[in-house]
Amino acid sequence: MLRRPLAVLLLVAWSTAAAQTHRPAPPPAVARDFSLVRAEYSGANALDVVAFMDHYFRVPGNTGFNASLDRVRDILERAGYQPESTAAPGARLTYRIETRPLRGPTWEPVDASLSIVGQDSALLRFATNRNMLAIDSYSTPAGGVIAPLVFAGSGSPAELDSAHVAGKVVLVAGPVRRVFADAVTARGAVGVLGYSMPGYTQPDVHTHSIQFTQIPLDSVHRSWAMPLSKAAYDALRAALDRGPVQVHVETATKIYPSVERTLIAEVLGNVSPDQRFVFSAHVQEPGANDNASGVGTQAEMARTLAALLRRGAIDPGRTITMIWGNEIEQTRNFLADDSVRRRDIHWGVSLDMTGENTAKTGGTFLIEKMPDPSAVWTRGDDHHTAWGGSPVPLSMLHPHYFNDFILDRCLDQAAATGWVVNTNPYEGGSDHTPYIEYHKPGLLFWHFTDVYYHTDGDRLSMVSADEMKNVGVSALVSALTLTSADGPTTRALVSQIEGDGRSRLDREYALSAAAVKAGGPAAHEVEILSAWKAWYVGAIRAMTDIELGGTSPETGRAIDAGAADIGAYADSLIAKLTP
Ligand SMILES: [Zn+2]
Repeated sequence: MLRRPLAVLLLVAWSTAAAQTHRPAPPPAVARDFSLVRAEYSGANALDVVAFMDHYFRVPGNTGFNASLDRVRDILERAGYQPESTAAPGARLTYRIETRPLRGPTWEPVDASLSIVGQDSALLRFATNRNMLAIDSYSTPAGGVIAPLVFAGSGSPAELDSAHVAGKVVLVAGPVRRVFADAVTARGAVGVLGYSMPGYTQPDVHTHSIQFTQIPLDSVHRSWAMPLSKAAYDALRAALDRGPVQVHVETATKIYPSVERTLIAEVLGNVSPDQRFVFSAHVQEPGANDNASGVGTQAEMARTLAALLRRGAIDPGRTITMIWGNEIEQTRNFLADDSVRRRDIHWGVSLDMTGENTAKTGGTFLIEKMPDPSAVWTRGDDHHTAWGGSPVPLSMLHPHYFNDFILDRCLDQAAATGWVVNTNPYEGGSDHTPYIEYHKPGLLFWHFTDVYYHTDGDRLSMVSADEMKNVGVSALVSALTLTSADGPTTRALVSQIEGDGRSRLDREYALSAAAVKAGGPAAHEVEILSAWKAWYVGAIRAMTDIELGGTSPETGRAIDAGAADIGAYADSLIAKLTP
């Protein structure tokens, strides 16, 4: 018997994985797109972009950020995209680079080292810890500075006061981002060293790993801060336990005026070019997976679309837009800058951390869903990630089919390749959030838990070309399906979403029945099931924006029937709960 409960448990934990193997065949148009895109998309091309960007610590406006954008622009040009300003009439492949002022100067690291005076080798060197300098740190004078080291606990104002930090280097058990202004700007410390590696980075295993961070720009004191690895922090604490310590710190950085560039490429629709499916990939941050992989995945998507369009294999009716630039801002600007354009932006996806080689990084591919009832009541096989999420209010829910539609396409890809696909409830923190702000369907393609997340261990060797291909193919087929859907395809999708709704309602009913059996209030479970009912009735009703050229009467009838059927099915389950 034990075996069985274990089998059931496995089924629940990886319900998504189990669903992978017993998948209904995708609608014919979708299957066709899969075979076209799988044949054209090259994971190696996406990895080339990652290899190029891995050389740079990218911050909006700096050398690495701009070189990465130029690299993608060159790929677009070679693939046949024309600059929008000079494009021939009727051109279907265009791009432009938008320029905006930055709020302050840009920044880039050059070199750094941290040593205990009297010890031969440095504790930290930039060459082996690229994240050892907090963004917006200034350079020390040539040769560096030598100063007494003082420990100030967690760096609270009271602890800083009692440590008398003026003229000293402050060591804290906490994030330098939080302590810097109090220690340097307010109390005249020379600089700050701090340790605050989150548990999911396994600092006891990866003792030399450092997560990048940022401090407030202080052009008066022109100081610096260093997030520490576990090994460096332990060595400094041990040295202080032995007696007074002097540290020698050298930093070299560039801080200079610049502008924010955003690269936008479009495959213009031939029927409803104003209606859009939008992808975004942010360029900044030092990581290979976060987010050179998203940039590379999307660049290869753009090349693949151009190749298929130019040989007449695809002909999207709506526009597919791809944005590369400053995280979240790029997407918020695209939505905010033009209210007419915004009205017809139907779908948005953020490609952020798409390349994890999960055998090395841990974790799985995840679809972070737009807010649905699982983000209000997170239970069963829905789990928040170690990144962190909290319940959302019901008022944040805007029923839509996008979560299930996208999951279905990823599961189609998984069924063909053995790829592991999971989902997590809405958490935020990437380019999908502006869509949620505008009550539009938007979601995130990412991976978690990545043990190298935001650390200087997130380098090229942690990136998988196959993983980026799985993500890129699923993303592209999703966009091609929704930008070219005819009546039969739309109706096939309606019945698929209805099927997804039934299996979700079945799972929720099983959880609710168990909760009531365990003595829980039935009214609470009815509220949850009613929310899922409203979700799927609304999700199917929202499918009126799929059929190209507008919903035909036949499709309209299918949508009405599907919404009515799923509503009735939910009611039958609710009735069973409250006999
Ligand atoms: Zn990211």
